[in-house]
Amino acid sequence: MNCIFCSIAKKKASAEIVYEDDQLVAFKDINPKAPVHILIIPKEHIASVNDLTEINEPLLGQMIIRAKALAVKSKIARSGYKLVLNCGRDAGQLVDHLHLHLLGGGPLDGIA
Ligand code: 5GP
Ligand code: ZN
Repeated sequence: MNCIFCSIAKKKASAEIVYEDDQLVAFKDINPKAPVHILIIPKEHIASVNDLTEINEPLLGQMIIRAKALAVKSKIARSGYKLVLNCGRDAGQLVDHLHLHLLGGGPLDGIA
């Protein structure tokens, strides 16, 4: 399978990684749509929200808690931020590996 986000998680493709643990990797979006634009992904390949089951509930919790921690670290927790999960083509999902967008650092009108 040729998945760019799996390659980033396995360090076979480069990215500006800002956080990593056993389950997750977070890295800067290559084409940022806001001053802070970080993607939080599971290391496991899960294509989209459509592929999640109850088994993944703890993973989703970890992704959101990590996004909050990265918002604090990026100093946007007080000013505000958006967490976005695009699912499928109509939502604009371009990479078929689950990823949570953390967007902030300026007005987010028109983003998601
Ligand atoms: P989607 O539209 O699928 O929700 O978001 C995919 C995001 O991944 C886009 O914001 C895009 O800029 C970002 N992206 C795509 N390929 C790469 C890559 O190779 N490296 C990084 N850092 N971001 C990527
Ligand atoms: Zn993948």
